[in-house]
Amino acid sequence: MEYTERKNLTHPAGLSEGLQFFAFVKIAPLLKAPDEGDRLLEKLSGVREPGKNRSFFLTVAKFSMIIHVDMDAFYASVEMREQPGLAGLAVVVGGPAQGRGVVAAANYAARKYGIHSAMPVVQAQRLCPKLVLLPVRMPLYIKVSRRIREIFQRYTPELEPLSLDEAFLDVSASERLFGDAVKIGRKIKNDIAEELSLVASVGIAPTKFVAKVASDIDKPDGFVVIHAHEVQAFLDPLPVGRLWGVGKVTGSEFERLGIHTIKQLRQQPREVLQYRFGKFGESLWNLAQGIDPRKVVSDSQAKSISNETTFAVDISDQRLLRNQLLELTEQVAFRLRQQGLYARTAQIKLRFADFKTITRSMSLAAHTQTTKALWNVAQELLDAALAGRTRAIRLLGMAASGLSRQASVVQQADLFSDPEQEKQRELDRLADEIRGRFGAVSIRRGAGHHHKV
Ligand SMILES: [Mg+2]
Repeated sequence: MEYTERKNLTHPAGLSEGLQFFAFVKIAPLLKAPDEGDRLLEKLSGVREPGKNRSFFLTVAKFSMIIHVDMDAFYASVEMREQPGLAGLAVVVGGPAQGRGVVAAANYAARKYGIHSAMPVVQAQRLCPKLVLLPVRMPLYIKVSRRIREIFQRYTPELEPLSLDEAFLDVSASERLFGDAVKIGRKIKNDIAEELSLVASVGIAPTKFVAKVASDIDKPDGFVVIHAHEVQAFLDPLPVGRLWGVGKVTGSEFERLGIHTIKQLRQQPREVLQYRFGKFGESLWNLAQGIDPRKVVSDSQAKSISNETTFAVDISDQRLLRNQLLELTEQVAFRLRQQGLYARTAQIKLRFADFKTITRSMSLAAHTQTTKALWNVAQELLDAALAGRTRAIRLLGMAASGLSRQASVVQQADLFSDPEQEKQRELDRLADEIRGRFGAVSIRRGAGHHHKV
């Protein structure tokens, strides 16, 4: 703990030195939400000054600096490491060139042509005729990803992977052993470079949101540290599109309102955003102030696994929505199987065009990790949620919760006795293998058909 840091910080009115120290040491780890912080500090100081208390909350958050590590152009970089002849060339991983193949990753030489991930391969080739197109080799990336995770685990068990090449780390318990978060971040970046010949960008900040923006802002080969007292100045000039959950649609709505930067957004009264965008607006307003109480949740304590997607345009076509939901369910089930987890509950999340957000969940008959069992419930939830509604959807999510390391006893018995169950598992194994070989884009199970999965 860097005692000297405190000199730079704003303190809430009325707190004596002793109480401040008490608050730092004893309360900091207990703070889970800014409101909680406000209440605690109000009680301690007897002074009600939410603004000051809020900045105090932010400074307290300094004691749990969060590290976000994100590999640069991961798939493409791994391929370039494996094939030295590719040095200097514009390379994308993805495919196939025929049909509707998309770019999974583009190296920085390719990005100079305006090529980015999720772009159709055909379009990328038009932008750069000499583009080198490589197939997705998922098993290789998974192997490298494990090596990266091993490096993380040297420094902390508190890590939350977001994908194969990206993770949040909470190192607050490891600081006595390895030095502060900045030193640990450096070590991780160096270990990855030396042992794996790959480049990671690192962001370090008091909150997840700011750490993630920090790792991205100076890519490639970035290393950006944002201390608590620098958070607001860092966020203010950024475009609102940087805020989590602001897609093209919300972005253009802000543009219409004349809100371009995070500073302009945070200067709006909170009520205006609440009124306009509901709970989502409130969380945007909080993020804009640098407030993000989310903790790093490591794999072992994850309560749910979820995937969601924000559409570029609002969708009301039910068949399209079903297709999207099936894809999300595939992703969630894939992650369950990768991690050896079984879920007991399926949940869907819908955000309507007017920003009203609903979730609907249902228990499964047994703990499961098969796509079909989750899909059966998910599509039922979607049908029920959409019944009688005509509003367009802007965000769709799917989650599996009630996680367990073991299948239910019933299901385990079924696995061996029920040929239908065994068939589903075989299908999933096949799907995972295909996904491994060609990437997510290659798997399509017709969502239009209720029973044909
Ligand atoms: Mg990355």
